[in-house]
Amino acid sequence: MDPKILALLLKNYDDLLKRVDAHIKKVEKNYSDKIVCKKGCDTCCRFLNLFPVEAFALSAAFLGMNNSCQKSVMSGLEEKNRCPLLINNQCVLYEARPIICRTHGYPLYFKKDGEILVDFCPKNFKGVTSFTRDALFDLDQLNKLLAAINKQFLESFETNPFDDRIPISRALFLLDEIEEK
Ligand code: SF4
Repeated sequence: MDPKILALLLKNYDDLLKRVDAHIKKVEKNYSDKIVCKKGCDTCCRFLNLFPVEAFALSAAFLGMNNSCQKSVMSGLEEKNRCPLLINNQCVLYEARPIICRTHGYPLYFKKDGEILVDFCPKNFKGVTSFTRDALFDLDQLNKLLAAINKQFLESFETNPFDDRIPISRALFLLDEIEEK
């Protein structure tokens, strides 16, 4: 696909990624001694399903990898318990990882049965008993934004060629799949 068209299709999604990354940077700065997430810790890297816009972005990144990296990923596609992009305990498309992967480990807040809950990786934030509001990801808001961006993305196509949710193992080949249709 023409890179300019690709960039236009993914503009809103890329902007959201930048906002998420900026938030994470701030949290990392403010809680630098409380975050133990690091290369090699892959507890969060399980099998994921993505919105089409995320799957599309991941596919573009995957097709930009060299052949040998692509082959390594493809050799793990049948694995059911881990993400195929996890190789030697590291994400091989870290810069292009989906939003959920970016939020892993950090404090998220959401409502459940009318109650406000905060969740984060128990390995992080040891001894922290409360967070300032700006340290928290509003999960419901993030999901709403992502759903709106996905809707707008889908409206760029004459007919929607995508499933509602796409597993990573299939997402990687989405661009090829679309171009063959
Ligand atoms: S895309 Fe990368 S960060 Fe996300 S689950 Fe897969 S290996 Fe982990």
